[in-house]
Amino acid sequence: MKEVVVIGGGASGLMAAYAAAKNGNKVTLVEKNEKVGKKIYITGKGRCNLTNDCSPDEFLQNVVRGGKFLTGAIYAFPPARTMQFMEENGLALKVERGNRVFPASDHASDVTKTLERACHAVGVKILLNTEVQRIEKGDCFRIATSTADLVADAVILATGGLACPSTGSTGDGYRFAAEAGHTITPCVPSLVGLELAAPLTEAQGVTLKNVVLTAKRGQKTLSSRLGELLFTHYGVSGPLVLTLSAEINRLPLNEISLFLDFKPALDEKTLDARLVRDFTERKNEQMKNVMRGLLPAALSVPVLQAANISPAKQANAVTREERMRLLYTLKNFPLRPQKLRGFEEAVITSGGVSLLEVNPKTMESKKVKGLYFCGEVLDLDAYTGGFNLQIAFSTGFCAGENIK
Ligand SMILES: Cc1cc2nc3c(=O)[nH]c(=O)nc-3n(C[C@H](O)[C@H](O)[C@H](O)COP(=O)(O)OP(=O)(O)OC[C@H]3O[C@@H](n4cnc5c(N)ncnc54)[C@H](O)[C@@H]3O)c2cc1C
Repeated sequence: MKEVVVIGGGASGLMAAYAAAKNGNKVTLVEKNEKVGKKIYITGKGRCNLTNDCSPDEFLQNVVRGGKFLTGAIYAFPPARTMQFMEENGLALKVERGNRVFPASDHASDVTKTLERACHAVGVKILLNTEVQRIEKGDCFRIATSTADLVADAVILATGGLACPSTGSTGDGYRFAAEAGHTITPCVPSLVGLELAAPLTEAQGVTLKNVVLTAKRGQKTLSSRLGELLFTHYGVSGPLVLTLSAEINRLPLNEISLFLDFKPALDEKTLDARLVRDFTERKNEQMKNVMRGLLPAALSVPVLQAANISPAKQANAVTREERMRLLYTLKNFPLRPQKLRGFEEAVITSGGVSLLEVNPKTMESKKVKGLYFCGEVLDLDAYTGGFNLQIAFSTGFCAGENIK
Protein backbone atom coordinates (compact mmCIF):
# COMPACT_ATOMS: atom_id res chain seq x y z
CA MET A 1 0.00 0.00 0.00
CA LYS A 2 1.30 3.45 -0.91
CA GLU A 3 0.44 6.95 0.22
CA VAL A 4 -0.73 8.72 -2.93
CA VAL A 5 -1.50 12.42 -3.39
CA VAL A 6 -3.50 13.42 -6.46
CA ILE A 7 -3.20 17.11 -7.27
CA GLY A 8 -6.33 18.42 -9.01
CA GLY A 9 -9.92 17.26 -8.69
CA GLY A 10 -11.00 17.48 -12.32
CA ALA A 11 -12.05 14.59 -14.55
CA SER A 12 -8.57 13.08 -14.73
CA GLY A 13 -7.73 13.53 -11.06
CA LEU A 14 -10.99 12.03 -9.84
CA MET A 15 -10.56 9.00 -12.08
CA ALA A 16 -6.90 8.63 -11.07
CA ALA A 17 -7.77 8.83 -7.37
CA TYR A 18 -10.48 6.20 -7.79
CA ALA A 19 -8.17 3.82 -9.68
CA ALA A 20 -5.31 4.23 -7.18
CA ALA A 21 -7.59 3.77 -4.14
CA LYS A 22 -9.44 0.74 -5.44
CA ASN A 23 -6.07 -1.05 -5.58
CA GLY A 24 -5.64 -0.54 -1.85
CA ASN A 25 -3.54 2.62 -1.79
CA LYS A 26 -4.19 5.41 0.70
CA VAL A 27 -5.24 8.30 -1.54
CA THR A 28 -5.65 12.00 -0.80
CA LEU A 29 -6.99 14.25 -3.57
CA VAL A 30 -6.13 17.93 -3.23
CA GLU A 31 -8.30 20.51 -4.99
CA LYS A 32 -7.88 24.24 -4.73
CA ASN A 33 -11.51 25.07 -5.51
CA GLU A 34 -14.41 24.85 -3.09
CA LYS A 35 -15.67 21.82 -5.01
CA VAL A 36 -14.31 19.16 -7.35
CA GLY A 37 -15.03 19.02 -11.07
CA LYS A 38 -15.67 22.73 -11.60
CA LYS A 39 -14.85 22.41 -15.29
CA ILE A 40 -17.01 19.31 -15.72
CA TYR A 41 -20.05 21.45 -14.79
CA ILE A 42 -19.61 23.61 -17.89
CA THR A 43 -18.71 20.85 -20.34
CA GLY A 44 -21.07 20.07 -23.22
CA LYS A 45 -22.99 23.29 -22.51
CA GLY A 46 -23.80 22.02 -19.02
CA ARG A 47 -24.75 18.52 -20.26
CA CYS A 48 -21.22 17.00 -20.32
CA ASN A 49 -20.38 15.08 -23.43
CA LEU A 50 -18.33 12.66 -21.36
CA THR A 51 -17.05 10.33 -24.04
CA ASN A 52 -17.62 9.11 -27.58
CA ASP A 53 -19.15 5.68 -28.08
CA CYS A 54 -16.60 4.47 -30.64
CA SER A 55 -13.81 1.92 -30.94
CA PRO A 56 -10.27 2.75 -29.79
CA ASP A 57 -9.16 2.99 -33.43
CA GLU A 58 -11.89 5.48 -34.32
CA PHE A 59 -11.08 7.33 -31.13
CA LEU A 60 -7.43 7.69 -32.04
CA GLN A 61 -8.38 9.20 -35.41
CA ASN A 62 -9.85 12.12 -33.47
CA VAL A 63 -6.73 12.82 -31.47
CA VAL A 64 -4.80 15.86 -32.74
CA ARG A 65 -1.61 15.56 -30.68
CA GLY A 66 -0.25 12.49 -28.91
CA GLY A 67 -2.21 9.70 -30.62
CA LYS A 68 0.71 7.28 -30.58
CA PHE A 69 1.43 7.94 -26.91
CA LEU A 70 -2.26 7.46 -26.05
CA THR A 71 -2.76 4.16 -27.84
CA GLY A 72 -2.01 1.93 -24.83
CA ALA A 73 -4.15 3.94 -22.39
CA ILE A 74 -7.09 4.12 -24.81
CA TYR A 75 -7.02 0.37 -25.43
CA ALA A 76 -6.65 -0.31 -21.69
CA PHE A 77 -9.47 2.06 -20.73
CA PRO A 78 -11.54 2.72 -23.88
CA PRO A 79 -14.82 4.67 -24.14
CA ALA A 80 -16.74 1.45 -23.43
CA ARG A 81 -14.98 1.19 -20.05
CA THR A 82 -15.88 4.80 -19.20
CA MET A 83 -19.51 4.07 -20.02
CA GLN A 84 -19.42 0.87 -17.97
CA PHE A 85 -17.79 2.70 -15.06
CA MET A 86 -20.44 5.44 -15.08
CA GLU A 87 -23.33 3.00 -15.36
CA GLU A 88 -21.96 0.72 -12.62
CA ASN A 89 -21.72 3.76 -10.40
CA GLY A 90 -25.34 4.68 -10.97
CA LEU A 91 -25.26 7.10 -13.91
CA ALA A 92 -27.66 6.33 -16.77
CA LEU A 93 -26.26 7.40 -20.16
CA LYS A 94 -27.54 8.19 -23.62
CA VAL A 95 -25.82 8.34 -26.99
CA GLU A 96 -26.60 11.18 -29.38
CA ARG A 97 -25.58 12.29 -32.89
CA GLY A 98 -21.95 11.54 -33.73
CA ASN A 99 -21.77 8.89 -30.95
CA ARG A 100 -21.58 11.62 -28.33
CA VAL A 101 -22.36 10.23 -24.88
CA PHE A 102 -24.24 12.31 -22.28
CA PRO A 103 -25.82 11.58 -18.90
CA ALA A 104 -29.47 10.65 -19.50
CA SER A 105 -30.40 13.44 -17.06
CA ASP A 106 -28.65 16.07 -19.26
CA HIS A 107 -26.95 17.34 -16.11
CA ALA A 108 -23.15 17.56 -16.12
CA SER A 109 -23.30 17.74 -12.32
CA ASP A 110 -24.41 14.09 -12.31
CA VAL A 111 -21.10 13.09 -13.90
CA THR A 112 -19.17 14.86 -11.15
CA LYS A 113 -21.39 13.32 -8.48
CA THR A 114 -20.78 9.87 -9.96
CA LEU A 115 -17.01 10.31 -9.92
CA GLU A 116 -17.14 11.67 -6.37
CA ARG A 117 -19.36 8.79 -5.25
CA ALA A 118 -16.96 6.25 -6.74
CA CYS A 119 -14.02 7.95 -5.01
CA HIS A 120 -15.76 7.95 -1.64
CA ALA A 121 -16.70 4.28 -2.04
CA VAL A 122 -13.02 3.30 -2.27
CA GLY A 123 -11.92 5.60 0.54
CA VAL A 124 -10.39 8.61 -1.28
CA LYS A 125 -9.91 11.55 1.07
CA ILE A 126 -10.76 14.83 -0.66
CA LEU A 127 -9.22 18.09 0.56
CA LEU A 128 -11.04 21.12 -0.87
CA ASN A 129 -9.93 24.77 -0.78
CA THR A 130 -6.36 23.50 -0.67
CA GLU A 131 -3.88 24.79 -3.19
CA VAL A 132 -0.67 22.94 -3.83
CA GLN A 133 2.21 25.38 -3.97
CA ARG A 134 5.33 23.26 -4.29
CA ILE A 135 6.41 19.65 -4.64
CA GLU A 136 9.76 18.41 -3.39
CA LYS A 137 11.23 14.98 -3.85
CA GLY A 138 13.64 13.35 -1.40
CA ASP A 139 13.11 9.85 -0.02
CA CYS A 140 9.44 10.62 -0.51
CA PHE A 141 7.42 13.55 -1.88
CA ARG A 142 6.72 16.61 0.26
CA ILE A 143 3.77 18.60 -0.99
CA ALA A 144 3.44 22.11 0.38
CA THR A 145 -0.16 23.35 0.25
CA SER A 146 -1.99 26.48 1.34
CA THR A 147 -3.21 24.65 4.46
CA ALA A 148 -0.69 21.97 5.50
CA ASP A 149 2.22 19.94 4.17
CA LEU A 150 1.55 16.44 2.90
CA VAL A 151 3.88 13.49 2.45
CA ALA A 152 3.46 10.85 -0.24
CA ASP A 153 5.17 7.88 -1.91
CA ALA A 154 3.57 8.82 -5.24
CA VAL A 155 2.11 12.00 -6.70
CA ILE A 156 -0.33 12.23 -9.60
CA LEU A 157 -0.30 15.61 -11.29
CA ALA A 158 -3.82 16.22 -12.66
CA THR A 159 -3.87 20.00 -12.66
CA GLY A 160 -5.30 20.49 -16.15
CA GLY A 161 -4.08 23.07 -18.65
CA LEU A 162 -4.71 26.76 -19.22
CA ALA A 163 -8.10 26.70 -20.93
CA CYS A 164 -10.95 28.40 -19.08
CA PRO A 165 -8.82 29.46 -16.07
CA SER A 166 -11.88 30.51 -14.03
CA THR A 167 -12.44 26.78 -13.37
CA GLY A 168 -9.05 26.46 -11.65
CA SER A 169 -6.92 25.42 -14.62
CA THR A 170 -4.22 28.05 -14.29
CA GLY A 171 -1.26 26.03 -15.49
CA ASP A 172 0.22 25.30 -12.03
CA GLY A 173 1.07 21.76 -13.11
CA TYR A 174 3.42 23.01 -15.83
CA ARG A 175 5.43 24.83 -13.16
CA PHE A 176 5.56 21.76 -10.89
CA ALA A 177 6.59 19.57 -13.83
CA ALA A 178 9.25 22.03 -14.98
CA GLU A 179 10.63 22.27 -11.44
CA ALA A 180 10.87 18.47 -11.45
CA GLY A 181 13.00 18.67 -14.60
CA HIS A 182 10.35 18.13 -17.27
CA THR A 183 10.18 19.84 -20.64
CA ILE A 184 6.97 21.76 -21.32
CA THR A 185 5.92 21.95 -24.95
CA PRO A 186 4.71 25.55 -25.51
CA CYS A 187 0.96 25.87 -24.91
CA VAL A 188 -1.50 27.41 -27.36
CA PRO A 189 -5.32 27.57 -27.20
CA SER A 190 -7.23 24.94 -29.14
CA LEU A 191 -10.90 24.37 -30.03
CA VAL A 192 -11.38 28.11 -30.04
CA GLY A 193 -12.83 30.90 -32.20
CA LEU A 194 -10.87 32.82 -34.79
CA GLU A 195 -10.50 36.58 -35.06
CA LEU A 196 -10.67 37.89 -38.61
CA ALA A 197 -8.80 40.87 -40.05
CA ALA A 198 -12.18 42.17 -41.26
CA PRO A 199 -14.97 40.64 -39.14
CA LEU A 200 -18.42 40.69 -40.75
CA THR A 201 -19.96 42.56 -37.83
CA GLU A 202 -23.29 42.92 -39.62
CA ALA A 203 -23.57 39.11 -39.67
CA GLN A 204 -22.83 38.70 -35.94
CA GLY A 205 -24.99 35.89 -34.54
CA VAL A 206 -25.70 34.31 -37.95
CA THR A 207 -25.17 30.54 -38.02
CA LEU A 208 -24.65 28.76 -41.32
CA LYS A 209 -25.32 25.04 -41.47
CA ASN A 210 -23.80 22.79 -44.13
CA VAL A 211 -21.12 25.13 -45.43
CA VAL A 212 -17.61 24.06 -46.37
CA LEU A 213 -14.64 25.85 -44.79
CA THR A 214 -11.33 25.34 -46.57
CA ALA A 215 -7.95 26.39 -45.17
CA LYS A 216 -4.97 26.87 -47.48
CA ARG A 217 -1.35 27.73 -46.95
CA GLY A 218 -0.09 28.97 -50.29
CA GLN A 219 -1.45 26.46 -52.80
CA LYS A 220 -1.61 23.63 -50.26
CA THR A 221 -5.01 22.74 -48.85
CA LEU A 222 -4.62 22.15 -45.11
CA SER A 223 -8.19 21.10 -44.49
CA SER A 224 -11.66 21.29 -45.99
CA ARG A 225 -14.74 20.35 -43.96
CA LEU A 226 -18.50 20.52 -44.13
CA GLY A 227 -20.34 21.74 -41.06
CA GLU A 228 -21.69 24.62 -39.05
CA LEU A 229 -20.12 28.07 -38.75
CA LEU A 230 -21.07 31.01 -36.58
CA PHE A 231 -20.25 34.68 -37.26
CA THR A 232 -19.30 36.61 -34.11
CA HIS A 233 -18.32 40.19 -33.30
CA TYR A 234 -14.63 39.27 -33.61
CA GLY A 235 -14.74 36.83 -36.51
CA VAL A 236 -15.92 33.24 -36.72
CA SER A 237 -16.61 30.35 -34.38
CA GLY A 238 -18.84 27.25 -34.27
CA PRO A 239 -17.92 23.58 -34.74
CA LEU A 240 -16.12 24.03 -38.08
CA VAL A 241 -13.89 26.77 -36.73
CA LEU A 242 -13.15 25.00 -33.44
CA THR A 243 -11.96 21.96 -35.35
CA LEU A 244 -9.91 24.10 -37.70
CA SER A 245 -8.28 25.90 -34.77
CA ALA A 246 -6.78 22.61 -33.59
CA GLU A 247 -5.07 22.24 -36.96
CA ILE A 248 -3.72 25.75 -37.45
CA ASN A 249 -2.92 26.87 -33.90
CA ARG A 250 0.82 26.39 -34.36
CA LEU A 251 1.02 27.93 -37.83
CA PRO A 252 1.62 31.58 -38.78
CA LEU A 253 -1.95 32.73 -39.39
CA ASN A 254 -0.88 35.47 -41.81
CA GLU A 255 0.15 32.69 -44.22
CA ILE A 256 -3.26 31.01 -44.08
CA SER A 257 -6.23 31.82 -46.27
CA LEU A 258 -9.73 30.62 -45.54
CA PHE A 259 -12.51 30.15 -48.07
CA LEU A 260 -16.15 29.56 -47.39
CA ASP A 261 -18.36 27.67 -49.81
CA PHE A 262 -21.89 28.83 -49.01
CA LYS A 263 -23.45 26.34 -51.39
CA PRO A 264 -21.46 23.09 -51.31
CA ALA A 265 -24.45 21.02 -52.42
CA LEU A 266 -24.64 22.92 -55.73
CA ASP A 267 -21.92 22.55 -58.34
CA GLU A 268 -21.03 25.66 -60.33
CA LYS A 269 -23.29 24.80 -63.24
CA THR A 270 -26.32 24.21 -61.01
CA LEU A 271 -25.63 27.32 -58.93
CA ASP A 272 -25.28 29.43 -62.08
CA ALA A 273 -28.63 28.14 -63.33
CA ARG A 274 -30.11 29.09 -59.97
CA LEU A 275 -28.64 32.63 -60.22
CA VAL A 276 -30.00 33.06 -63.76
CA ARG A 277 -33.45 31.93 -62.62
CA ASP A 278 -33.46 34.24 -59.56
CA PHE A 279 -32.22 37.21 -61.61
CA THR A 280 -34.95 36.60 -64.23
CA GLU A 281 -37.78 36.12 -61.75
CA ARG A 282 -36.74 39.18 -59.71
CA LYS A 283 -35.34 41.29 -62.52
CA ASN A 284 -36.54 44.66 -61.20
CA GLU A 285 -35.29 44.14 -57.63
CA GLN A 286 -32.02 45.35 -56.18
CA MET A 287 -29.31 42.71 -55.88
CA LYS A 288 -29.13 42.96 -52.08
CA ASN A 289 -32.75 41.77 -51.99
CA VAL A 290 -32.40 39.16 -54.74
CA MET A 291 -29.53 37.58 -52.77
CA ARG A 292 -31.81 36.89 -49.84
CA GLY A 293 -33.12 33.83 -51.61
CA LEU A 294 -29.63 32.38 -51.39
CA LEU A 295 -28.13 33.75 -48.19
CA PRO A 296 -29.15 35.15 -44.80
CA ALA A 297 -29.95 38.88 -45.24
CA ALA A 298 -26.94 40.00 -43.20
CA LEU A 299 -24.57 38.30 -45.63
CA SER A 300 -26.03 39.64 -48.89
CA VAL A 301 -24.15 42.94 -48.88
CA PRO A 302 -20.73 41.55 -47.80
CA VAL A 303 -20.92 38.86 -50.48
CA LEU A 304 -21.92 41.34 -53.19
CA GLN A 305 -19.13 43.68 -52.11
CA ALA A 306 -16.61 40.83 -52.23
CA ALA A 307 -17.82 40.14 -55.79
CA ASN A 308 -17.50 43.86 -56.57
CA ILE A 309 -21.20 44.27 -57.42
CA SER A 310 -23.18 47.23 -56.15
CA PRO A 311 -25.86 46.00 -53.68
CA ALA A 312 -28.22 48.62 -55.18
CA LYS A 313 -27.84 47.31 -58.72
CA GLN A 314 -30.99 45.88 -60.35
CA ALA A 315 -30.86 42.19 -61.16
CA ASN A 316 -31.51 42.77 -64.88
CA ALA A 317 -28.47 45.06 -65.08
CA VAL A 318 -26.01 42.45 -63.79
CA THR A 319 -23.56 41.47 -66.52
CA ARG A 320 -22.49 37.91 -67.26
CA GLU A 321 -19.02 38.74 -65.97
CA GLU A 322 -20.49 40.05 -62.71
CA ARG A 323 -22.62 36.92 -62.36
CA MET A 324 -19.51 34.76 -62.82
CA ARG A 325 -17.73 36.77 -60.11
CA LEU A 326 -20.71 36.30 -57.80
CA LEU A 327 -20.75 32.59 -58.51
CA TYR A 328 -17.05 32.34 -57.67
CA THR A 329 -17.53 34.36 -54.48
CA LEU A 330 -20.42 32.20 -53.29
CA LYS A 331 -18.17 29.15 -53.63
CA ASN A 332 -14.93 30.82 -52.39
CA PHE A 333 -15.79 33.62 -50.00
CA PRO A 334 -12.47 34.76 -48.50
CA LEU A 335 -11.90 35.16 -44.75
CA ARG A 336 -8.56 36.47 -43.45
CA PRO A 337 -7.60 34.90 -40.09
CA GLN A 338 -5.75 37.21 -37.74
CA LYS A 339 -5.55 35.61 -34.33
CA LEU A 340 -7.00 32.79 -32.28
CA ARG A 341 -9.15 33.78 -29.33
CA GLY A 342 -7.46 33.31 -25.96
CA PHE A 343 -7.35 30.60 -23.30
CA GLU A 344 -10.37 32.20 -21.55
CA GLU A 345 -12.54 31.01 -24.44
CA ALA A 346 -10.64 27.89 -25.48
CA VAL A 347 -12.06 24.44 -24.81
CA ILE A 348 -8.64 22.87 -24.49
CA THR A 349 -4.89 23.54 -24.26
CA SER A 350 -2.57 22.25 -26.93
CA GLY A 351 0.90 21.64 -25.50
CA GLY A 352 2.05 20.71 -22.01
CA VAL A 353 4.29 18.11 -20.36
CA SER A 354 6.39 16.55 -23.12
CA LEU A 355 5.26 13.01 -23.91
CA LEU A 356 8.84 11.92 -24.56
CA GLU A 357 9.50 12.08 -20.82
CA VAL A 358 6.45 10.08 -19.69
CA ASN A 359 5.98 6.30 -19.81
CA PRO A 360 2.87 5.72 -21.99
CA LYS A 361 2.12 2.40 -20.29
CA THR A 362 1.95 3.85 -16.76
CA MET A 363 1.88 7.68 -17.10
CA GLU A 364 4.90 7.74 -14.78
CA SER A 365 7.62 10.32 -15.28
CA LYS A 366 10.78 8.91 -16.84
CA LYS A 367 12.70 11.49 -14.83
CA VAL A 368 11.20 11.31 -11.34
CA LYS A 369 10.18 7.94 -9.96
CA GLY A 370 6.74 8.04 -8.37
CA LEU A 371 5.57 11.15 -10.23
CA TYR A 372 2.64 10.53 -12.57
CA PHE A 373 0.72 12.75 -15.01
CA CYS A 374 -2.79 12.60 -16.44
CA GLY A 375 -5.28 14.71 -18.37
CA GLU A 376 -4.81 18.07 -19.99
CA VAL A 377 -1.49 18.81 -18.25
CA LEU A 378 0.04 16.39 -20.78
CA ASP A 379 0.77 17.44 -24.36
CA LEU A 380 -2.37 15.67 -25.63
CA ASP A 381 -5.45 17.08 -27.32
CA ALA A 382 -8.32 15.95 -29.50
CA TYR A 383 -11.29 17.29 -31.44
CA THR A 384 -14.70 17.95 -29.87
CA GLY A 385 -17.10 15.04 -29.39
CA GLY A 386 -16.26 13.70 -25.92
CA PHE A 387 -12.67 12.83 -26.85
CA ASN A 388 -10.93 15.18 -24.44
CA LEU A 389 -12.77 13.98 -21.36
CA GLN A 390 -12.08 10.41 -22.45
CA ILE A 391 -8.37 11.27 -22.63
CA ALA A 392 -8.66 12.54 -19.05
CA PHE A 393 -10.41 9.31 -17.95
CA SER A 394 -8.05 6.93 -19.80
CA THR A 395 -4.83 8.60 -18.67
CA GLY A 396 -6.24 9.12 -15.14
CA PHE A 397 -7.21 5.48 -14.83
CA CYS A 398 -3.86 4.37 -16.24
CA ALA A 399 -1.90 6.52 -13.77
CA GLY A 400 -3.91 5.37 -10.73
CA GLU A 401 -4.02 1.73 -11.77
CA ASN A 402 -0.23 1.54 -12.09
CA ILE A 403 0.54 2.66 -8.56
CA LYS A 404 1.09 -0.60 -6.72
C1 LIG B 1 -16.34 25.20 -21.91
C2 LIG B 1 -15.74 23.83 -22.03
C3 LIG B 1 -16.53 22.79 -22.48
C4 LIG B 1 -15.99 21.50 -22.63
N1 LIG B 1 -16.80 20.50 -23.04
C5 LIG B 1 -16.28 19.25 -23.20
C6 LIG B 1 -17.12 18.17 -23.55
O1 LIG B 1 -18.36 18.30 -23.62
N2 LIG B 1 -16.52 16.96 -23.77
C7 LIG B 1 -15.18 16.76 -23.61
O2 LIG B 1 -14.69 15.65 -23.84
N3 LIG B 1 -14.37 17.76 -23.21
C8 LIG B 1 -14.88 19.00 -22.98
N4 LIG B 1 -14.07 20.01 -22.54
C9 LIG B 1 -12.65 19.69 -22.24
C10 LIG B 1 -12.56 18.98 -20.87
O3 LIG B 1 -13.32 19.70 -19.93
C11 LIG B 1 -11.12 18.86 -20.41
O4 LIG B 1 -10.40 18.16 -21.37
C12 LIG B 1 -11.03 18.09 -19.08
O5 LIG B 1 -11.86 18.67 -18.12
C13 LIG B 1 -9.60 18.08 -18.57
O6 LIG B 1 -9.61 17.43 -17.32
P1 LIG B 1 -8.37 17.55 -16.34
O7 LIG B 1 -8.72 16.76 -15.14
O8 LIG B 1 -7.12 17.22 -17.04
O9 LIG B 1 -8.27 19.10 -15.98
P2 LIG B 1 -9.28 20.10 -15.25
O10 LIG B 1 -10.67 19.69 -15.47
O11 LIG B 1 -8.86 21.45 -15.66
O12 LIG B 1 -8.99 19.88 -13.70
C14 LIG B 1 -7.82 20.34 -13.09
C15 LIG B 1 -8.12 20.60 -11.63
O13 LIG B 1 -6.91 20.86 -10.93
C16 LIG B 1 -7.13 21.88 -10.00
N5 LIG B 1 -5.84 22.52 -9.71
C17 LIG B 1 -5.04 23.18 -10.57
N6 LIG B 1 -3.94 23.62 -9.95
C18 LIG B 1 -4.05 23.22 -8.66
C19 LIG B 1 -3.22 23.39 -7.51
N7 LIG B 1 -2.08 24.08 -7.55
N8 LIG B 1 -3.63 22.86 -6.33
C20 LIG B 1 -4.82 22.18 -6.25
N9 LIG B 1 -5.64 22.00 -7.31
C21 LIG B 1 -5.26 22.51 -8.50
C22 LIG B 1 -8.10 22.81 -10.70
O14 LIG B 1 -8.79 23.64 -9.79
C23 LIG B 1 -9.00 21.83 -11.42
O15 LIG B 1 -10.12 21.47 -10.64
C24 LIG B 1 -14.61 21.28 -22.35
C25 LIG B 1 -13.82 22.34 -21.88
C26 LIG B 1 -14.38 23.60 -21.71
C27 LIG B 1 -13.52 24.71 -21.19
